[in-house]
Amino acid sequence: MRLTRRTALAAAAAWVAAPALAADDRFALRGQPTQGGWLRGRVPQGTTALRLDDQALAYAADGAFLIAFDRDAVPVATLVAETPAGPVRQALGIAPRAWPIEHVDTPMHPAGMPDAEFARRRADELARIRTARAHDTGAQGWRQTMIHPARGPMSGRFGAQRVFRGVPAAYHGGMDIAAGAGTAIVAPADGVVVLAAVADLFTLEGHLIIIDHGMGLNSAMLHARTVSIGQGAAVAQGQTICQVGMTGRATGPHLHWGLTWHRRRLDPLLFLQDR
Ligand SMILES: [Zn+2]
Repeated sequence: MRLTRRTALAAAAAWVAAPALAADDRFALRGQPTQGGWLRGRVPQGTTALRLDDQALAYAADGAFLIAFDRDAVPVATLVAETPAGPVRQALGIAPRAWPIEHVDTPMHPAGMPDAEFARRRADELARIRTARAHDTGAQGWRQTMIHPARGPMSGRFGAQRVFRGVPAAYHGGMDIAAGAGTAIVAPADGVVVLAAVADLFTLEGHLIIIDHGMGLNSAMLHARTVSIGQGAAVAQGQTICQVGMTGRATGPHLHWGLTWHRRRLDPLLFLQDR
């Protein structure tokens, strides 16, 4: 069945109207299913397995779980819990969003680097990022409402279609905060550092830090001037991890904060709100 924007919104509205807390034999859910957004919940009593459409999901010993929706998520997803009494299903209407177009006055690739060298270095870098993001440390930050990692004006929104000097590119995968160079960047939630480019620079990200918040959720902090934390370190929400800079592909000092859940790209702004 092909769903229009209207039917998707109606489905989302119907979901929101449902009671926030269900009986023990149903899902208890909190949040608003929107592209780039999240739901937190608790599995029905007796659950032996949980999945979102075809994807098997982990849930905590207390039954709590987190799911999140990609920037380009389709309008409907189904949560399924297997229980001794049979499967419990919960349809989710995922509200679509209108994504703006942003023109950026900088070349898509780093200036002065031959394409062949960029391609070679990029493959290695992407492999390091993938490996880091696949690492589940058991961190519990996924349960928290996040805090701003740096204070400053928001200079780039998540999800905008980017055009680099007339060349269309991928959409903006994070949120930009234009804090001054040297401003402290703190952990938005508890976690474990799974990647810290302390001495080396990624071609686009510069000094990059990735924090695992557990349950497949992690934060990437880009363009840091200096990094104050090493790989493997446990960090508490609010703890300083690095300083704002403009390393990598950046037109000025800022923090780019990217958030992903099992490779789906999320809108950090929605994780700063407990809705
Ligand atoms: Zn950015």
